[in-house]
Amino acid sequence: MAKKRPTKLTVGCYDYEILWQKCPDKTNIGWCEPAHLRITIDPSMNPMVQISTLVHELLHAGSDFIGLTPDPALEESIVTRMSGIVVSMLRDNPDVVEYITRKLE
Ligand SMILES: [Zn+2]
Repeated sequence: MAKKRPTKLTVGCYDYEILWQKCPDKTNIGWCEPAHLRITIDPSMNPMVQISTLVHELLHAGSDFIGLTPDPALEESIVTRMSGIVVSMLRDNPDVVEYITRKLE
């Protein structure tokens, strides 16, 4: 398993760059910019918060890709709820994650 922080991820047909730095507006701990194919994560946070934020921003990228909703507040609500579930499923089910990862290779 990779030990370094990832610097790119793919969502649909898009390759996103992941930047590990303070967010441009300095008020968010994570930031997704679909128009620039860029996700920014504040690396000064607790590692678990970084992971949760990365999943949250990945879901924003996915929401944008599928055109989930034109309502930003609704998207934020859905992404916030889903990111907590996804992180806990990944953390609490390593055998399932390993099985899925292996099957997708
Ligand atoms: Zn969000």
